Amino acid sequence: MTFGSCQSGADKLFKDSKIVMGTVVEITVAHRSEEQARVAIREAMAEFQRIDDLMSSYKPDSMVSRVNQAGSSVKVPVGKEVFQIIRDAAAISAASGGAFDATIWPVSRLWGFEQGGMIPKPAMIEKILPVVGYQKIEFDESSYSVGFGVDGMGLDLGAIAKGWAVDRAMEILMARGVRNAIIDAGGDLRIVGARPGKDFWRIGVKHPRDPGALLMTFDLRDTAIVTSGDYERFFVAGGVRYHHILDPATGQPARDCQSVTVLAPTAAEADACATAAFVLGPSKGLAFLRARPGVRGVMVGAAGELHWTDDALALMARR
Ligand code: AMP
Ligand code: MG
Repeated sequence: MTFGSCQSGADKLFKDSKIVMGTVVEITVAHRSEEQARVAIREAMAEFQRIDDLMSSYKPDSMVSRVNQAGSSVKVPVGKEVFQIIRDAAAISAASGGAFDATIWPVSRLWGFEQGGMIPKPAMIEKILPVVGYQKIEFDESSYSVGFGVDGMGLDLGAIAKGWAVDRAMEILMARGVRNAIIDAGGDLRIVGARPGKDFWRIGVKHPRDPGALLMTFDLRDTAIVTSGDYERFFVAGGVRYHHILDPATGQPARDCQSVTVLAPTAAEADACATAAFVLGPSKGLAFLRARPGVRGVMVGAAGELHWTDDALALMARR
């Protein structure tokens, strides 16, 4: 825990960071009491591990892996929380016309970006692609159980779970009395209140092709802002960039964007919408974002050109 500089007023900034869910999670809290800030940050940080243990497709004992390992005739009781996120992921899948697909796991497993990544044989993708389809997820709400209509399916919540964890962690901070804070899980941010002495938090969005540089800066309070980019997990082979955001229609990395930044009321929605809009590409992606209440976005197209919803511009920082 580092001790931030003293701002105007009685609140000071306290920060901690930790690697969890395959990313750096950084929590910044403005508080009068270092002791109370420390306790709140520690509890919020633990939330990321709890969610990862429940929702990772890479952990064989996670609730999601139990569903993935069960045969198509079996529904697995997953508990209310996991049931809820799977249902939310299925709803975004439907709203995006399948550009986001919560059942992309058989394909994302082949690419293996978690272990550095490799190009799968086209025949393997062709064989596996027909089982991908969120419409074949089966829900039983009375027992909070989830199953699949077809063998070989698998859930991948990688495009929404980090945002979900950020939301839950922020709830914990707020239950501990925190009113001004930022949680940043590798580009998935939730923001409450403002920086001491200001009426906003200033947030930079990474440039997708210039590491270390910012694409743009926002002045924000009480929102989530999430960026999906082709620079987060990728490798280059034969001069081609292969990255972790996959088009369920082809089983290949989506090609129409470099990055997408979405602002939404919750980090889970922003996270899922950023991935969905990335796959949809600038034109359909903007239409998708505009159709959702309270959602704004900025998209960087394949040639580096910018596209945005008009209401996103209003939040850009004035220097
Ligand atoms: P994000 O960084 O939020 O865009 O999420 C990317 C992660 O979501 C990948 O590492 C995969 O685990 C998963 N994923 C990739 N493509 C899709 C897709 N089209 N729909 C849903 N999840 C996806
Ligand atoms: Mg996402």
